[in-house]
Amino acid sequence: SRAESSMGDAMERKALVLLSGGQDSATCLAWALERYPHVETVGFHYGQRHAVELECRKVVLHRLREEFPAWGERLGGDHMLDLSLLGQISDTALTQDQEISFKASGLPSTFVPGRNLLFFTFASAIAYRRGLTTLVGGMCETDYSGYPDCRDNTLKALQVAMSLGLDASMVVETPLMWLTKEQTWHLAEQLGGQGLVELIRTETHTCYLGDHTQLHSWGYGCGHCPACELRRTGYEAFTQSESA
Ligand code: ZN
Repeated sequence: SRAESSMGDAMERKALVLLSGGQDSATCLAWALERYPHVETVGFHYGQRHAVELECRKVVLHRLREEFPAWGERLGGDHMLDLSLLGQISDTALTQDQEISFKASGLPSTFVPGRNLLFFTFASAIAYRRGLTTLVGGMCETDYSGYPDCRDNTLKALQVAMSLGLDASMVVETPLMWLTKEQTWHLAEQLGGQGLVELIRTETHTCYLGDHTQLHSWGYGCGHCPACELRRTGYEAFTQSESA
């Protein structure tokens, strides 16, 4: 059947997960480890104010190896790329000390133009060299900040462009694309039980301001920026549905 052949295909593919250190990409990493026999990770330093997330990604990788041995066997190397040029060419609230607000375009000032386009393009170059044929990202069009480079159509177009430009099949998987933040927590629970939920709650970082001083019920963060708002409401809906 078609379902079986696509499953067989997945079992032969090797994946590269874009791991930022946030909730979404950590959940995607677990999703990929459940699905692919070999998974590597890539992270980007681009002068983000919330560079604390880069420390989180190391802890997430370490704990996944320690606490989920079956996944640990599948988890290959981690690649860190210096994309500080992105911080040099963009004037945004994620890379500069400015207020988070909405611009005349309707986009929040946290939008870093071209970010995901560059991330995937660089990831595809690593994947090509490493023989990895699937790129996995935590982009989502459901509860999101309106970034046009998180949209499904953008990533579908990028998948075509990369596959043509490399002359090699490069599949882009975005398992969270149509999930709410609440559903993303449920996915984590399905994949790794309460242990994974706790790991993601306490070890990932989502806050745009890089505030990692206080652990709330939903995780670390300032509690006020748009990223914290999304994370808090998603987690609260998740725990309410758990206790219902
Ligand atoms: Zn925040």
